[in-house]
Amino acid sequence: MLPEGFPFDPGWQWLKAIQFGEEAVKKSEVYRQNQSSAQAFGFESADRASKWAELDKLGVSPDELLAGLKKRDLPDKASPNPERRAGKIADETRSTPEKTCETRERTVDPDYGGAQGDARTYLKHQYTNDDGVMFCQLCQDSQPVILNGEPHFEAVDCVSCISFHYEQNNLALCPNHAAMYKNGGLAPDALQRAILECEGQKILLNLAGNEVELYFTQQHLSDLRAILANVCSGRD
Ligand SMILES: [Zn+2]
Repeated sequence: MLPEGFPFDPGWQWLKAIQFGEEAVKKSEVYRQNQSSAQAFGFESADRASKWAELDKLGVSPDELLAGLKKRDLPDKASPNPERRAGKIADETRSTPEKTCETRERTVDPDYGGAQGDARTYLKHQYTNDDGVMFCQLCQDSQPVILNGEPHFEAVDCVSCISFHYEQNNLALCPNHAAMYKNGGLAPDALQRAILECEGQKILLNLAGNEVELYFTQQHLSDLRAILANVCSGRD
């Protein structure tokens, strides 16, 4: 308070400074309360909370965001006894019928339908994780298209020049990557070498100028190697 009779000029600088100080204290109290409320809800700061509130007003669904961002576990099947499994696959490799073509109205392979069914069952088992989510081996993400509650994927020949139906010589790809794989200009020899020689479970490929990674479960990779080793060493 000013002493009585004290000449008062609201323009005086010192008075302005006092008012400014009070305002600042008030503001900092509000600021502190906002910060602590935001932090109680798990936000780093009130500023961040207000930005999320803005997104909410724009109709961004946190559930959808979370579903998209939540890291999903890639499926990875492994054999308890890889050697025995490789031996079994090698035996099957020798007895698998060669792909044949009959001329009907158009050229068809009579075994194709059954072989495709087997390949799809095999791939579904290999590339579905414990949460029931099926993955694409190229994008290593969940299959984007679901039809009648089932993931819509393509079973694509992995090494295309092999003239026998082996369910293990197929890849589980989403429709986009199936097209990319089939038309990417892969050299079968280089691909075979990459499969036989890769150290981890991923193979680097160049598809139509794009560097991509092809993921395999341990079981699928060793099954495919058993087949390639037999095909390469002469099947008959
Ligand atoms: Zn994909």
